[in-house]
Amino acid sequence: MRTDRRVCSLLLLSKAKASGEILAQKRSKVCIAYDSPGENGIKEATKRKRWEPRNWEQHLSNIREMRKAKDAPVDQMGAGKCYDADAPPEVMRYQVLLSLMLSSQTKDQVTSAAMMRLREHGLTVDNVLKTNDATLGQLIYPVGFWKRKVKYIKDTTAILKRDYDSDIPKTVGELVKLPGVGPKMAHLVMDIAWQDVSGIGVDTHVHRICNRLKWTKNETKLPEETRQALEEWLPRELWSEINWLLVGFGQQTCLPVGPRCSQCLNKDICSVSKKR
Ligand code: SF4
Repeated sequence: MRTDRRVCSLLLLSKAKASGEILAQKRSKVCIAYDSPGENGIKEATKRKRWEPRNWEQHLSNIREMRKAKDAPVDQMGAGKCYDADAPPEVMRYQVLLSLMLSSQTKDQVTSAAMMRLREHGLTVDNVLKTNDATLGQLIYPVGFWKRKVKYIKDTTAILKRDYDSDIPKTVGELVKLPGVGPKMAHLVMDIAWQDVSGIGVDTHVHRICNRLKWTKNETKLPEETRQALEEWLPRELWSEINWLLVGFGQQTCLPVGPRCSQCLNKDICSVSKKR
């Protein structure tokens, strides 16, 4: 009898609990106009409001199609291709950093050749510190601003030896403190050397193409402005790919002067092409 009563009360309790839960579920689905929409509601509203450029997905798919042969200079000689993949990890990372330092204002072919000479010479922190400035200059000539870069490389390498145990820093904040390293370079170093996508690497190709395709809400004057504008809407999973994709597209089709619009799959959905 006592047991029956206990079973009965347990049944009643579970029924009440179940109906309470159903009621709570029902309640949670009702959103009264003056109620806060909750975190999910806010996220949804933000998603709806977020600005996106017209036709960007079609632009991107066309660029992927135009880049599928992977035969632009960046594909063979970009900074992601110049380091010694058999070197110890910290040496590999140092070489990625150096190839990016050399690459600013320099064609990929010239950077790649300079990196090969440096690697034959011995491209490690200790060896670069032992190398005098004149020899280092000869090794990297004719990269753009080579004299200034000799100083940047020497100063940066000394800091790596002193403060980072001959490795490179692991954050954008620390990387941009190194002489000759700017935000574009730092984000690319994070991606290539640490496989950590911290931001979009925007160089002159990416900057120019984003403005031509109107991928920034307003026209931007500097690559750094373009990076910020792009990061506001471009899905994060595309941040790593976009640099490689647009750099090669800029080298082969969307050239700085005389873009090859007649061959471009985006010609019907690009305002620059329509003006030409
Ligand atoms: S149509 Fe011309 S300007 Fe527009 S993306 Fe293509 S090459 Fe560049």
